[in-house]
Amino acid sequence: PRLTDFTGVPPELTIGRPLSVLARVMSRRLADPKRFTAEFAEAQVTLDQHPAFDIEVVGDERRVYEIACFPVLGVWPDGAGFGSIVRDVTAARELDFRKTEFVGIASHELRTPLTGILGFSQLLTAHPELDEQAQGWAARIAEEAQRLSSIADDLLNVSRIESGELKLEVVDLEVETLLEEVRAHFEARTLESGHQLLVRAEPGQRVAVDAGKLREVVVNLVDNALKYSPDGGAVRVMATADETAVQIAVSDEGIGISEEELPRVFERFRRVTRRDTATIRGAGLGLYIVNSYVESMGGTVSVESEAGRGSTFTIALPRISADQAA
Ligand code: ADP
Repeated sequence: PRLTDFTGVPPELTIGRPLSVLARVMSRRLADPKRFTAEFAEAQVTLDQHPAFDIEVVGDERRVYEIACFPVLGVWPDGAGFGSIVRDVTAARELDFRKTEFVGIASHELRTPLTGILGFSQLLTAHPELDEQAQGWAARIAEEAQRLSSIADDLLNVSRIESGELKLEVVDLEVETLLEEVRAHFEARTLESGHQLLVRAEPGQRVAVDAGKLREVVVNLVDNALKYSPDGGAVRVMATADETAVQIAVSDEGIGISEEELPRVFERFRRVTRRDTATIRGAGLGLYIVNSYVESMGGTVSVESEAGRGSTFTIALPRISADQAA
């Protein structure tokens, strides 16, 4: 009865029938039947993978349902079948949409005043009429304004990712050039912190990516590597290539991540709470953005880590071969 409520499809058409029949009947009311059919075909139900996707139904009003599939064993003599749970998620998705919209507007509005605070406080740090102590205060204001504006940027990026407004400007990029830029970016900071930053790239490797976004990705990973190695040590950035992909690995000798936390670090707003990291600041958005950017460029991110020993984050991106580039 609930399925009939949701979809308007009478029980005679669904009970005992394959799901594809329901899909066909429903597709007349779907906002985007092609996408639904494609996603359903792709939803390979295996024991360890439980696909879930949304469908939009347009009737008198627009409604969104989530279909989650799971395997069912031991019912059929010839193996497994699958079940699916259909939930009306219209209200939840609407709320999500409003939240994303709010985050987008708020972070955008924050940036303008922050630019002013940052610019003028930077001017004051070298103002001849201020004594050294006051110049020091101005430098602190500038530093904090810088931090605030990077949080606002992160929030804006998250809202772009979630609203599907992420735009890529894809160019042909040499990985070695990018890594050299990243090294230069961190030069002053590593001199001060005492970390060793070692960068090595096989020359001549090229990828088709949004250069600015990939730079942000690598900067973010190196920033984390430094941040989560409070006792110093080496941070290595290595680019290697095989037939089809270029791998960029960022490794550190820092605090590492425990096995339980490891699968969750890419979630948004996810931070590992431990006593020894309580003073390390962050909003838990960096890795979420890293992962979304890399996936949008057709790549993947993986992580290996051991608590107390260090972490390695590896990005794999499709490689442009020499004859493709020519
Ligand atoms: P943030 O650093 O702002 O908290 P991120 O999304 O960049 O957010 O990272 C999420 C969490 O993953 C961090 O809070 C931290 O606990 C863990 N983490 C990320 N990078 C490292 C690293 N190189 N070493 C140890 N822990 C890390």
